[in-house]
Order: sequence, then structure tokens, then C-alpha cells
Amino acid sequence: MKSSEVATWLDEAEIATALQNSSTPDAAHVEDIIQKSLELNGLDFQDVAVLSHIRQPEQLQSLFDAAKRVKETIYGRRLVLFAPLYVSNHCGNECLYCAFRRSNTALHRRALQLDEIRRETEILVDQGHKRVLLVAGEAYPAVGSSKGLDYIFDAIRTIYEVKNGNGGEIRRINVNIAPLATEEFRALKETGIGTYQLFQETYHRATYAAVHVGGVKKDYDWRATAVDRAMEAGIDDVGLGVLFGLADWRFDLLGLMAHIRHLEARFGVGCHTVSVPRIEPACGSDMAATPPHAVSDTDFLKITAILRLAVPYTGIIMSTRENADTRRATLELGVSQISAGSRTNPGGYAESLDQTRDEDAAQFQLGDHRSLEEVVKDISALGYIPSFCTACYRLGRTGHDFMDMAKPGLIKEKCGPNALSTFLEYLLDYTKTETRTAGLSAIDLELADMDGKVRRLSERMLERVHAGKRDVFC
Ligand code: SAM
Ligand code: SF4
Repeated sequence: MKSSEVATWLDEAEIATALQNSSTPDAAHVEDIIQKSLELNGLDFQDVAVLSHIRQPEQLQSLFDAAKRVKETIYGRRLVLFAPLYVSNHCGNECLYCAFRRSNTALHRRALQLDEIRRETEILVDQGHKRVLLVAGEAYPAVGSSKGLDYIFDAIRTIYEVKNGNGGEIRRINVNIAPLATEEFRALKETGIGTYQLFQETYHRATYAAVHVGGVKKDYDWRATAVDRAMEAGIDDVGLGVLFGLADWRFDLLGLMAHIRHLEARFGVGCHTVSVPRIEPACGSDMAATPPHAVSDTDFLKITAILRLAVPYTGIIMSTRENADTRRATLELGVSQISAGSRTNPGGYAESLDQTRDEDAAQFQLGDHRSLEEVVKDISALGYIPSFCTACYRLGRTGHDFMDMAKPGLIKEKCGPNALSTFLEYLLDYTKTETRTAGLSAIDLELADMDGKVRRLSERMLERVHAGKRDVFC
């Protein structure tokens, strides 16, 4: 086996030592780390170990305050919105926490036909979505004339083909599918995806082996080295994640840091996003009902805040696994992308229109059942600017280029105007009086807070959207 096929960068002894040495952190040292994070250069592995052990309420408050400051400095008030699109729940693996696992006979299996994928996309487009996250189990049954991975490629093409007039279209597809070989990643890149997302679930090898008991996914290293192959294949926006609740969260947070450190050393750029899913109840899974290392709400907020300080330019994604209150709390601490109006069963969007529910085909239970419009209303009332922007990857601002722009704060000059123009497009095309009025006031408030040059650019872009132009971005 070549070293690139083994995750040699994950050194369990290093993590254990770092956690042991930081288990009773000195207050002055904690404060130094928090102050250092405000310089926006991120934190290292040892710093993260120290922060993971803080318990005193005043230290926790100081951590949360710093996360809020970092988030506001880099991201301003914008929040990117997306919806997952589950195309198939067939799976050959045995992940004990997941409803899609092969042996779960309680699950209703379904792989959408291409016309069903088109229908799901049309529904999301009609709600105003511009970004989707395509999700599938790891088995691609023959669907029509599409076989194997071609099914996923055909699904991507089908989603991009939907055009419902007046800018109604999906402009960025991110994907969360099983690890591929380098050549397959090259073909995936050709389909025009945005981010390739893959969660290691847990970096703890013994736990990984205990919860992945069958199928290709048993191979820890094949999964842990997958984003290396994706980056070798030219996919330079990758998303990492941990499924919190499987192993000790401090261990997994440091595992994630080691993974990011490896990518930075090897490719000069870390991950574009991190996701922080917690295990949710799932049909036919005892483990999902009582996770072995359930993460408390306070620790969950701590994880989000530490990540915001540790990797300030990496997007943090919060899904609808969490309920509305937890989601609101994490927005302040650093989350920059959220899903809304989600369904985790293939065909779930069409079913919700027909008022039928096939919960027996869903991956896990949702914590937030609100529609996109309800979420938009809620977050704009909290002072955020919902963004449907997809400009960066379409202008080639990915990987290094994105980080080169993000680091000096330049991205804010692009993201701010793009958030406003795409939010206005959403308000004009998909909302009625109440949401629209609240949204237009939020745009005015945001404009009033912008510096001269960025404000003038935003105003010009907004004028074009008001005049009927769509997909206006810089
Ligand atoms: N099948 C592919 C894989 O496992 O990488 C990709 C799709 S899988 C449906 C996406 C993610 O769902 C997994 O990586 C896992 O972290 C998450 N997941 C599985 N079961 C879950 C549960 N009960 N609660 C929350 N998230 C879960
Ligand atoms: Fe399959 Fe992914 Fe679920 Fe595991 S997590 S059973 S690989 S869909």
C-alpha cells in the first residue's frame, strides 16, 4: 500500500498526548489562545486541544464572544442557504447508525428515475433554492439506462438542466457521495460540481471499525484518503466532517484538525467547508437512538465556536438535523451555511407537495421542519442576510484562489454584494408581502452599513435585479 493510501497523518498517540497535556488548562493560557484567534490566522492542533477542555462559564463566554467576533469580521451577516437532494437510499454498507444500511429491512428502498430527479429539482427551484447538495447511499442500482456511477453523473446533468424561466435554476451542486478512485473523481469534476463533501464519521480507528461492520466503507483508509484523491483529480473545494456522537468529540475534533493540517501541508489549502452533524434517530438503528458518545448542547456550541476560531476562512455547515433553537444559537458562533426545508428521503419534496410522507425511506429524523420561506423570515428577523450566491466557483474562485481572496478580507467585498443581489432576486420571485417587506428592510439596513465602494457596487447590482435581470454577481 502506498503512503498516500494510508492516513499516516492521523496519529492517535499524538491526539491522546495533546488531550492529556491540556486536560486542566491554565486560565491565562486559554485567554492567550482566544486573543490570538482574533488575529484571524487560525489556531493549531495544540490550541484546539486546550480550548476543548475549557469548562468555566467565563472562559466559555470568552470563547463564544471571540467566535462571534471572528464570524462577523469575516462573514458579516450573510448566511448561505441550500437544500439536500437525496437521489437514492440503496446502500451496500453497514453503518450501524444509518437507516440506509444494507441489512435494514424496515427501510423502503428507492432510487429516483431521472424524471423524478427533475421533478424534485423543479420543486426546489420553485421554492427559490439555487444550491443543492446531492446525497446518495453507496450502491448505484441501474436506473433506466444509467448504471453505476453514471447514475450520479446523469442525476447531476438532470439537475443542472432544469430551467424554470426568470433565473429559476440550480446554479451549484455540491455532492456527498461515497469515496471514489482518482479517475472517477476526475469524471465527477467534469460534471461541474461545486464542493465534494465526505465525512470521516470518526477518526478513531477502533470506533470506526466497530460501527462500520460491512461493505466497502469498512476500509478506514480508503475513506480517510478520499479527499486527497479528489484534490489530485482537480476538485479543489472539498468538505470534511465528523459524525458527532460516535467517539469522544475531543478526539474527533483533533482528528479533524490533523486532517486539515495534512491537506494544508500537501496541497497548500485545507478544506472549503466543515460539517458538524450530530447523530439523530434513524429508522431501525438502536445506535442512532442512543449514540455511544452523545454530545451535549453546550459541547456542540463549543465545537462550533472552536472550529470558527481554528479555521476562520472555512465555511461551517449546519443541517436541519438540529432544531431551530440550536441552529439559531450556532449561527452566532460561526455557522456560515445552513440547509432549509430539507427532506432526507428520495422523492421527499414531491411527497411533501402531495401531502404524503414516506418516513420509512428517510435517512434520519429532522430537527427543523420549517420551509425555506419560514427559515428566511426567521433569520432575516435576527439580522442575517440570507444568501443564494453561487458566484465563486462559477468565476473559478475555488481552492487556493478562494483562500487567497478570503484571507485579506477581500471576499467580503464580493460576498456582501452577491448576498444582497441573490436575496433580492429571491424576495422578488418567490415571496409575498410579509417576507418581502421584512427582507427589503434587511437589505436597506445592510446597505447602510457598507463602505462606500462596496455599497455603490451593491446598489448597482440591486438596480439590475429590480430591473428584471437575474443571476447578477461579481
Ligand atoms: N453514503 C455516503 C457516505 O456515507 O459517505 C454519502 C451519503 S450519507 C447519506 C451522508 C452522511 O449522513 C454520512 O456521512 C453520515 O455522517 C450521515 N448520517 C448517517 N446516519 C446519520 C444519522 N443517524 N444521523 C445524522 N447523520 C447521519
Ligand atoms: Fe450507506 Fe452512507 Fe448510510 Fe453508511 S452512512 S449506510 S454508507 S448511506
